[in-house]
Amino acid sequence: MPAEECVFCRIVAKQIPSEIVYEDEHVVAFRDINPQAPTHLLVIPRRHIPSLVEVTEDDIEVLGRLQYVASLLAKEHGFADDGFRTVLNCGQHGQQTVFHIHLHVLGGRQLTWPPG
Ligand code: 5GP
Ligand code: ZN
Repeated sequence: MPAEECVFCRIVAKQIPSEIVYEDEHVVAFRDINPQAPTHLLVIPRRHIPSLVEVTEDDIEVLGRLQYVASLLAKEHGFADDGFRTVLNCGQHGQQTVFHIHLHVLGGRQLTWPPG
């Protein structure tokens, strides 16, 4: 999919509005439009990577950065001590709906396990 057709590439390019809560040279984080917890953030690489299946060795650093930024945001948004969850859905069985890799960060309520 060309970047101009990817909704998350368009968020990175600020061509469509989103509530950005963090950005640096490699990563952008914003609020999910359909939150599943009191705080539901998405952390994404600026570079278009469709899914976890498509990653290469060149992506190892940015994958680590997604989790690192999730940790920073959990502290900043006040749910690090209570706990939270990061989730990366992949493909059809993982119910991935946006094919620009993204890490969900869910905090602010008691979550359950296993996921549906
Ligand atoms: P997935 O199901 O692919 O793991 O998660 C995609 C997430 O992106 C969903 O939680 C959905 O609510 C969110 N999402 C989809 N389109 C947009 C959008 O245009 N803006 C924002 N902020 N979130 C979106
Ligand atoms: Zn993209």
